[in-house]
Amino acid sequence: MLEITHLHVRVGEREILKGLSLAVHAGEVHAVMGPNGAGKSTLAHVLAGREGFEVTKGSVLFDGTDLFALAPHERAAAGLFLGFQYPVEIPGVSNLLFLRTALNAQRKERGEPEISAAQFMTRVRAEAAALGLDLEMLKRGVNVGFSGGEKKRNEAFQLAMLEPRLAILDESDSGLDIDALKVVAGGINRFRGPDRAVLLITHYQRLLDHVRPTHVHVLIDGRIVESGGPELALRLESEGYARHAA
Ligand code: ADP
Ligand code: MG
Repeated sequence: MLEITHLHVRVGEREILKGLSLAVHAGEVHAVMGPNGAGKSTLAHVLAGREGFEVTKGSVLFDGTDLFALAPHERAAAGLFLGFQYPVEIPGVSNLLFLRTALNAQRKERGEPEISAAQFMTRVRAEAAALGLDLEMLKRGVNVGFSGGEKKRNEAFQLAMLEPRLAILDESDSGLDIDALKVVAGGINRFRGPDRAVLLITHYQRLLDHVRPTHVHVLIDGRIVESGGPELALRLESEGYARHAA
């Protein structure tokens, strides 16, 4: 589904990703772990199409298509979703209107009919209840006045509503207490499926106790230095990243 080959990315004058390769297939959940500043968020942002990230070498194919030839909204319509490490607040734009607009824009781009207001609200109620999000809160501005935990649950809510095929989740566990962590993990687990894939970017192993990855990668200084199964995350938890340090 996603094929990253020797990707080099520059931000300003600095090269952040230095030849990163990674292949993600449908049905898989890949955890990318690494210390602060390794380039984890840079990877997420460049895949989503954020401005200011210059690809200097390498390629990324999404379902065989050159990802970088697509505008960010086209990537979303093609089934790519990014959950932010730091979700943005959008005052004046209601969460629900934002989501319905995004969902219908993506459907339109794919040549699908719009979702009706009734259908939309049925799904909103079910997903919001599953994630412990208050409906009144969802009528307010996007993430406005939300706690850190509520913002992360709102990301999981967006994921559930938009039903992408590849979810790139950047530090979905940061700032969560254990109960909220379980709720967000539950959302990610409900999202998993044979036709979908997840790229789970995380600093800590604890999220992986609740969302079991199929593959684990260690990202250090812009490169994947080691890959393995879930046991690799446990080893990193006890050893830290020190043994990979140059
Ligand atoms: P991680 O998510 O693994 O903690 P990031 O991808 O956020 O790491 O950052 C990797 C490196 O890139 C850091 O040294 C950071 O300071 C730098 N960086 C990230 N974004 C920018 C930016 N917009 N401008 C300049 N440097 C940046
Ligand atoms: Mg980061």
